[in-house]
Amino acid sequence: MAGFTVAIVGRPNVGKSTLFNRLLEQRKAIVDDVSGVTRDRQYGVADWNGKTFNVIDTGGFVSRSEDIFEREIRKQVKIAMEEANLLLFMCDVATGITDLDSDMADMLRRSSKPVFLVVNKVDNATRQLEATEFYSLGFEKVFFMSSMSGSGGGELLDEVAALIPEEEEAEKETEESVKIPKIAIIGQPNVGKSSLLNALIGEERNIVSDIPGTTRDTIHTHYKMFQKDFILIDTAGIRRKTKVQEDLEFYSVIRAIKAMDEADVCLLLLDATKGITGQDLNIFSLAGRKGKGLVVLVNKWDLIEDKSTNTARDYEKELKSRLAPFSDVPIIFTSVMEKQRIFKAIEEALRVYENRQRKVPTSKLNEVMLKAIESYHPPVVRGIPVRIKYVTQLPTFTPAFAFFCNLPDDVKQPYKNYLENQLRSNFDFEGVPVKLFFRKK
Ligand code: GDP
Ligand code: GDP
Repeated sequence: MAGFTVAIVGRPNVGKSTLFNRLLEQRKAIVDDVSGVTRDRQYGVADWNGKTFNVIDTGGFVSRSEDIFEREIRKQVKIAMEEANLLLFMCDVATGITDLDSDMADMLRRSSKPVFLVVNKVDNATRQLEATEFYSLGFEKVFFMSSMSGSGGGELLDEVAALIPEEEEAEKETEESVKIPKIAIIGQPNVGKSSLLNALIGEERNIVSDIPGTTRDTIHTHYKMFQKDFILIDTAGIRRKTKVQEDLEFYSVIRAIKAMDEADVCLLLLDATKGITGQDLNIFSLAGRKGKGLVVLVNKWDLIEDKSTNTARDYEKELKSRLAPFSDVPIIFTSVMEKQRIFKAIEEALRVYENRQRKVPTSKLNEVMLKAIESYHPPVVRGIPVRIKYVTQLPTFTPAFAFFCNLPDDVKQPYKNYLENQLRSNFDFEGVPVKLFFRKK
């Protein structure tokens, strides 16, 4: 299922982020550096037994004041219960059941979503015995583990994965080849997402129908413009603004991830006066890792004063250097307020959609790439030349290429970058993340 989301909740110091890091292994997390009472909230993608899911570490609280502390935790649990598909309620065997654990358990028992109780720091046999007291919290599914060593983690993950519906890969592909492009509007609060949506929805005549998203948190609207069909995905929070106020950051990131999971192409909106933030870059790279097409909209361009002929060009150059290594992305300067280039943005998204479906014939691919390899060879390793003999595009939905060679492990990043650049300059993959694999011939 697209966007299956697992939230880890629990008191501070029970080991949430230790488990989170273990789930992600060496993958990079998105860190929500919300200041104030919460410590970093983290988002990431994990996989187990071929199932992929989003993981949220709901973070902890640095406040010393008991009531702020409790209020924040309640809010956190409430949002997690609304937004996640599965909750991991983590407790710590070393402290035993605390009052706060009992309070959280009361909330979580009322959840309509499945809750797994995870008793952590069960590092040895003594603790295994002590851990049985946690059955008294009244959860059906109880797991004992040590996040530090990883023991017990496999059982937990097996059960998590069992809840995620199978994705029928073959079926999905045939379906997708005839389906309508899905475009998600994402970005930080106040960049102009709802204004963009309203500007487009304002064109009522273009709307074909409203279709519910796969979760109730996204809204899909089917449009017809420029003789083209597409579906715009927005997060329910964009339309129901008041609700979002509760915890703007948490909602906006989690919903952006959901919308992204359901989309083929993401329109990432930035505020021209603020530029790109760390959080934007995190979202951008997450979309890339998920294989989604991307178009960046620099909105509120009307607010940039004294624009000269070079302003947009310089801005774009600077922005692309921040987006590197994935900088082959369309950047459009928009003013939703003045209705400038908003249709251009849609056109670009549709073009990226086409690029994402591009299949380069093997003969053409080899003709171009073998020439590029011939003119700049991979570096010699331990006196042996690395030889790439053949390249083919894999039959995956998002573009991926396999390079067959004698020493696949010895092709290093700089050379991979060279090959990717050659692919991009010869075939149009603008806005599309591409994957390169190296295989033994
Ligand atoms: P969070 O605040 O819930 O995210 O907790 P952290 O992941 O930051 O962990 C709090 C402390 O508990 C850290 O010092 C961890 O090293 C420690 N810890 C986490 N998991 C385990 C475990 O399985 N066993 C033991 N003994 N310590 C752990
Ligand atoms: P959202 O939180 O991303 O949905 O942002 P909104 O659409 O609510 O916009 C936030 C604020 O920015 C509102 O006051 C809008 O009127 C304003 N805004 C949106 N787009 C533009 C634009 O292109 N130019 C200017 N000057 N203001 C804009």
